[in-house]
Amino acid sequence: MQDRYGRTIDYLRLSITDRCNLRCRYCMPDGAPLLAHSDILTYEEFLQVAAAAAALGITKFKVTGGEPLVRRGCVEFLRRLKALPGVEQVTLTTNGLLLAPVAGQMAALGLNGVNISLDAADPAAFAAITGFDRLGEVNAGIDAALAAGLKTKLNCVLLPGCETRLVPLARYAENRPLDVRFIEVMPIGAGAAQPGLNRDAALKILRQVWPDLHPVTEHRGNGPAHYYAAEGLTGRIGVIDAVSHKFCAGCNRVRLTSTGRLKPCLCYGEAADLRAVLRENPAQLPEALRRAIFEKPRAHCFEDAAAVTERRGMSQIGG
Ligand code: SAM
Ligand code: SF4
Repeated sequence: MQDRYGRTIDYLRLSITDRCNLRCRYCMPDGAPLLAHSDILTYEEFLQVAAAAAALGITKFKVTGGEPLVRRGCVEFLRRLKALPGVEQVTLTTNGLLLAPVAGQMAALGLNGVNISLDAADPAAFAAITGFDRLGEVNAGIDAALAAGLKTKLNCVLLPGCETRLVPLARYAENRPLDVRFIEVMPIGAGAAQPGLNRDAALKILRQVWPDLHPVTEHRGNGPAHYYAAEGLTGRIGVIDAVSHKFCAGCNRVRLTSTGRLKPCLCYGEAADLRAVLRENPAQLPEALRRAIFEKPRAHCFEDAAAVTERRGMSQIGG
């Protein structure tokens, strides 16, 4: 469907839990706020929203968290989501720790891709950022995803002090058929206090090793990443520059938090309470969803920290 600014909204992110098995210092250094079980949508409720969204023309879904794979039944949920009428694409964003054992099942159910977050290729730096010495499990998850034939992307946030980490991360694309994407820190949650590098600074560092790194126009996903190629890289380098280069005019997405709040824009706290609708007046769900999407704000306000009204962390929103 189109919003009031004529943008086609065809992509919904579903945050199925706000819990996580890492404590990334820019995301949830102190863990998740304690919620009652009943605060979180059941898988049935997520599927009800997804079905209503699909009826409105939303065809692409990203399952995220918190860490989606810590919620029991995630793989079965992905299978059911993918099987809903009108759902064309289902992808997953994960920290990769629990991915290796289920990568084959995910490929078999038809998952259209997996994004694995990885902010350091060095075990000590990984532990310093995430709070846990578990890089080996992430690497096993990456290997398993590729072995299963899943379309795989690595996501690295351009944190302060990341300069020396960028090239080792980009090297994952040297001999593997995966894309490595660098994402500007957004002023949300703990990330608000940690503005890092912008796109141009990151590209400058990468070009010291791959001087021929050049933009490519091919379409590689549903999102706003710009992609670059270089001789010597099997995969592509992607950059998501939401802060330095606003791309709201082409935004195609909305987000559903684990507590059932439909968030039309990352920047603002406003969110439609679909959980209340689902539990009290389910017949109203299609209209509540349509209205929330239609009223999506024109643009984010990341350039003006005082105007950001979102107080949830990225782990609650789903990134
Ligand atoms: N746990 C999963 C993971 O890490 O991929 C899924 C949820 S996580 C919140 C989704 C993405 O948001 C991750 O790639 C993470 O690095 C990113 N993220 C978290 N806080 C951020 C911030 N302030 N700015 C930009 N990206 C952020
Ligand atoms: Fe967990 Fe992902 Fe946040 Fe890291 S970025 S703490 S893995 S939710």
